[in-house]
Amino acid sequence: MYFMHFGARCQAPNSLGVVGTPLMPGPADRIGLAKHAVRDARRVVVLTGAGISTDSGIPDFRGPNGVWTKNPAAEKMATLQHYMGDPEVRKAAWRNRRSSPAWSAEPNAGHRAIVALQEAGKLHAVVTQNVDELHQKAGIDPDLVIEVHGTMRHVVCMSCGETAPMERVLARVDAGEEDPPCRTCGGILKSATISFGQPLVPEVIDRAFTVAEEADLLLAVGTTLGVYPAANVVPIAKRAGAIVVILNAEPTEMDMLADVVIRGSISEVLPLIVS
Ligand code: ZN
Repeated sequence: MYFMHFGARCQAPNSLGVVGTPLMPGPADRIGLAKHAVRDARRVVVLTGAGISTDSGIPDFRGPNGVWTKNPAAEKMATLQHYMGDPEVRKAAWRNRRSSPAWSAEPNAGHRAIVALQEAGKLHAVVTQNVDELHQKAGIDPDLVIEVHGTMRHVVCMSCGETAPMERVLARVDAGEEDPPCRTCGGILKSATISFGQPLVPEVIDRAFTVAEEADLLLAVGTTLGVYPAANVVPIAKRAGAIVVILNAEPTEMDMLADVVIRGSISEVLPLIVS
């Protein structure tokens, strides 16, 4: 069973016995190298994290303006034990969902760049840690999007497993229910995202690892690659022979594994790489 957790630095690459050194040319050259890698690739797998959606107005978790940095109580809402055990945490979570900027967010140039890969017939899959569905909204075939941490646009009953569109339950919150229960069984409702302490859906994470093995180019975008098991997509792809390109605003836990590391704005750089 897989649980979402933060990894120890460098542990994964070492345990897999992968040796790699990032190329160290200048920034423009690195974009050129990444561009060549995309041009030569036939099966691109893109792994995305919160960083690709920040330019759509959705804050990340641990950055300077992150949800958890500004409001440590929010991390409790993302932990299954607290959510299930404390009605106050659930009420706060529902208020939080209601006010999320994600509902009105639009895809940005970074999301659209991945659509360009799809149109070029090169996109094998998008493995995303994001729960905002902006890849689908941008035009990626939903069958190609592997949401390893679930989606915020649905709710699930933690007792009977019934799912429903989030907007239907938010309407009940608007109508005054602070912690709306499942209408079928009275169980606790939660967004259909993976919380800390909650197992990932085995078929979903297995599929992510399978597409990673099939990739000839792995593009890791907007993730610090510190949350497991999702981050394992990178060493798995590398071990299977893929070229690894990492694009992120900050250093990542797996820069040492990459063939090309680019630091920069995703919505500015990703369109350059895929053009
Ligand atoms: Zn139920």
